[in-house]
Order: sequence, then C-alpha cells, then structure tokens
Amino acid sequence: MRHLLIAAGSVLLAFAPFAAPARPAAGGDRTERLLRQLADAPGPSGFEEPVRAIMVREMKPFADRISYDGMGSVIAQQGSSGPRIMLDAHMDELGGMVRRVTSGGFLSMQMLGGWLDQALPDQRWVILGSKGPVKAVTGIRDVHVTPPAERATVFPRDSLFLDIGAHNAAEVKAMGVEPGDPVVPDAPFEVLNGTGRYLGKAWDDRVGCAVVVEALRRLAKAGHPNQLFVAATTQEEIGLRGAHTAAEVIKPDIGIAIEGGITGDSPGRNPEETQAVLGGGPGIFLYDTSALPNRRMVALTEQVAADLHIPLQRDLVQGYGDDSAEIQKSNGGVPTVNLVVPVRYTHAHNGVMDRADFDRMVDLVVAMIQRIDARTAAHLRDFTPGPAQP
Ligand SMILES: [Zn+2]
Repeated sequence: MRHLLIAAGSVLLAFAPFAAPARPAAGGDRTERLLRQLADAPGPSGFEEPVRAIMVREMKPFADRISYDGMGSVIAQQGSSGPRIMLDAHMDELGGMVRRVTSGGFLSMQMLGGWLDQALPDQRWVILGSKGPVKAVTGIRDVHVTPPAERATVFPRDSLFLDIGAHNAAEVKAMGVEPGDPVVPDAPFEVLNGTGRYLGKAWDDRVGCAVVVEALRRLAKAGHPNQLFVAATTQEEIGLRGAHTAAEVIKPDIGIAIEGGITGDSPGRNPEETQAVLGGGPGIFLYDTSALPNRRMVALTEQVAADLHIPLQRDLVQGYGDDSAEIQKSNGGVPTVNLVVPVRYTHAHNGVMDRADFDRMVDLVVAMIQRIDARTAAHLRDFTPGPAQP
C-alpha cells in the first residue's frame, strides 16, 4: 500500500501476556450464541440482509405479525390493543463500499458511517462480492521507509486501498468484486479470556438487536398491556433513515430506542466526554446531539430501574445521534428515551461489551413495557400545565 502511515495517538491494548486465551465453551448459552451470531453477521448500512434474516428468525415465534417498511426495517408486532410502543434497535453497522478498482488490482473504499481515519489502516475486512466473501486488508506504510516526521501522522482515509491479493483489475473482477460491493470489518466474536466481556464488531447496534429479541421473547410469556412494535431498523449510521420510515408505518404513542453506548473508563479519558463505565449497568441518555428525551420517560425509566435495583448510568454525550430522534419527531410528536448498553471502542473493528449490562438492560426494558399502560401512556403524553402555584 503506497501512501499509508502508522496511525498517531495512543492505542489501548489489553495484554494477556502468558496465559493462552480460554477458548469459549461450546457456544455459551442462548443469549451468548445470539450475540455472537448478530455480531458476526455482515450488514453495513443499506446491506442489512444477513441481520434481517436473523432478526426475523428470532422474533417470528414471539410475534403476532412480522412486517417491513419500504426501507427494509423489520417490524414485529405483539399485542393488539393498548398504547402503541415502538421498541427500536438498528441492524446496520459501520462499513464501506468498494468505490474504484485500480489497474493494479487495489480497491478504494467509500466509508459508510462515522469512522475515525486512524481506525482504518492495517485492518482485515470482508467484501461481500457476487461470488461470496472476499478477504481484504487495508495496508499500512512500512516504518522503515516512513520519514521520522511522518511517523505520528494519521493517514487520511482517501489514501487507503483494500488489498485482496489480486495482481490486476481482471483478477478482481474474476473474484466477483466490483464497485458498489459492501465491505465490513473482519473481527470475529470472542469471549474475552473467560470474562463476561464479549469482544466483537458491530456492538453498535447488534447489542440492541439482541436486547429487543430477548425482550420480545420474555414479554410473550410475561404479557403486557400494550401493542408492542419491535422495529429492527436500517441505515441508522448514515442518518437514522430506517427509523424515520419505520416510525411512519408504526405511528407510535411511545418510543424506546436501544443502542450501544460509549464508555469513558479506559485510562487517560476526559470525564467530560462520557461518564459511563463498562459493567456499570444500562445507560440513559439525557442529552445527545440528535435528541432530548421526554422528561416523564426519563422519570419512568429511573423509577423502574430503582424498583428493580438496577444501576442506571446517566449520560450526556456530544457527537452522537440515535433512532429516538426520528421516532420522537413522528406521528405528531412522541415521548421517547434512548437507553444504551455501554460499549468500549465503538465504530471500530473491536468493541467490548459486558454481559451483566446486557442482562440488566433486558430486565429494565421488559419491566418498562409492562409498566406502561393506557393511563401511563396518557400521562407521558400530557403537557397540560398543572394548577397554578399560589
Ligand atoms: Zn448505533
């Protein structure tokens, strides 16, 4: 690769110096297997088919009806009377598309979603070509020939090329790769050294996809007084597009988005960025760039969490958008909240989530949907001023 430099900045690595990593037990429990399948499924924005297949397979047994919006979002309905609750998670992940094939057989890449340039060099990728998956690598400039002044420079994304081992453009074509093909990180799921922490790509927002599947499963048995619409949406990472169209179809009274959060607990981070820690419990966003939550929805979330003794991490994050922003602007205005499972290193090949956070999030969401009924929903949507104070 011709124009690549070593990325600048401190890179955090978890060293396990001596012990070989424990191999995960054969697949773990049902939840772990679901998280593994969802994380490993390739589905960048606009190419969510493999994730959609998993979501339909998992939700169908617990839904009265499965439908789709015209952008590919899956809508699983459970219950036929009561307030219309939209429970949302997005299926798409960060990725890219093949943009151009050079005569020498390299490929330039159009990125999809919010990548840091420094996350891109020296990574393995999979191109979903017409003849099946094709392995690729973004190279990196050799240190030996990099001038000292350039060794701490972040190399811009437009100077990167995918290398698939081809000698020329004809070989690229023969492999079934052409401009427009989707590209995803190649970063398989691992249980991190026997801990309850899971390493994988795409926790944003496959962790949310798994939360809504588990919630739907539990609510099928436990019951609730609502029309629940679980929406697995498309194209969130490039502008919340599927949530917009799914909300148009669902016409929700109440909206709950489930997302991968971010964490500030690795060394050297500015606490003003985020206060959330991995393993500290589910998070509730009180502010992000795209949305303010409904204050009564916040109070309801806090009350349910307190009743269940679930720690709730309150967070305000700049430079973050989520599907609740589109839901709350639909149907004449909808009370919403964005709840997050904390994730380290989002929008990159290798993220880390904590299973205990996941389990507590499912408990919280199930209890919230059971707590909301016609009276509660009316209260959440009531903006009539109270009696004047003397
Ligand atoms: Zn997301």
